[in-house]
Amino acid sequence: MLTDRHGRTHRSLRISIVDKCDLRCAYCMPEDQHFLRREELMTRAEIGSIARLFVERYGVNKIRLTGGEPLVRPDAVDIVRDMAALPVNLGLTTNALTLHRHLDGLIDAGLRSLNVSLDTFDAERFRTITRRDGYDTVWSNIQAAHARGLRVKLNMVVMRGVNDDEILRFVELTRDLDMHVRFIEFMPFAGNHWGRERVYTYAEMLGHIGSVHSVEKLTDDPHSTAKAYRVPGWKGTFAVISTVTEPFCGTCDRLRITAEGRMRNCLFAREETDLLSALRRGEDIAPLVEANVLAKHAMLGGLPPFKPEKQEEVLHDLSERPMVAIGG
Ligand code: SAM
Ligand code: SF4
Repeated sequence: MLTDRHGRTHRSLRISIVDKCDLRCAYCMPEDQHFLRREELMTRAEIGSIARLFVERYGVNKIRLTGGEPLVRPDAVDIVRDMAALPVNLGLTTNALTLHRHLDGLIDAGLRSLNVSLDTFDAERFRTITRRDGYDTVWSNIQAAHARGLRVKLNMVVMRGVNDDEILRFVELTRDLDMHVRFIEFMPFAGNHWGRERVYTYAEMLGHIGSVHSVEKLTDDPHSTAKAYRVPGWKGTFAVISTVTEPFCGTCDRLRITAEGRMRNCLFAREETDLLSALRRGEDIAPLVEANVLAKHAMLGGLPPFKPEKQEEVLHDLSERPMVAIGG
């Protein structure tokens, strides 16, 4: 088991398989982002051997593949197949821009659950947020994945003055579709122009939704980062993710590996452990993994709380990595 010095046991692993992306969301990727060279990325075999260590030795039972955009990697489907062979609950997070090319392969490889980012239902606004065209393709790919029987969760990053006016439209989706929509507070990462005033809080989200619909609280998984709800009688569900205004670090069980094989024990971590170089030198990486987990901070990777009066401190202390190079 991987237990940290605060007594939390970690069973969930996010693996970023590539840092590149075919969209350039302003809240995630800085304009001048440089990407890793191919030889710097973990190979398929290296991803497999790191994942097996976490699963077989440490009891990790949940793996999510992410990026950057995982589907820009040519062997993404093969990696999904490798992970699906492990005794884990497997998920993939994607922007769905090229999902039509990979859907059959992913299902055949054993994928059953997909998280897709979608921040707007307006094509023009999609272009502003992602700095690329693609709304129609993304939305039709989401519908196709759902129609093929995949469990689909939609992730919407809610930003004040950008897309907060679409929250009810997203909730409306759950009337007839058994999708799960997650409203995420805008989080600070390197180069993403975060400001506390741009955070539309989870309390505001719930207040806004509750002013129009009656909502029923659902039971959350003990390690869930999300607080789940449903409009009674509707097919789908929704949740709010309150990382900024009400962090859930006390029950966090997540660990992360970046595309170049560095281990991070928190989304906001400033310390990383280079597993890949050690693996390539033929060393046992288990002691590195254990030391990394043990060092996990109690909250937010050691950052101060995201209070308005702490904003300057937060921005000063952020890790140098933008979200695109961490893997959400
Ligand atoms: N490219 C894939 C995608 O967009 O789903 C996977 C990688 S992306 C980094 C993973 C998730 O992080 C997405 O759901 C995205 O919306 C979320 N994310 C990125 N930057 C964020 C931010 N500043 N605040 C909150 N969520 C963010
Ligand atoms: Fe790419 Fe996903 Fe980041 Fe958008 S959120 S830039 S799609 S990695």
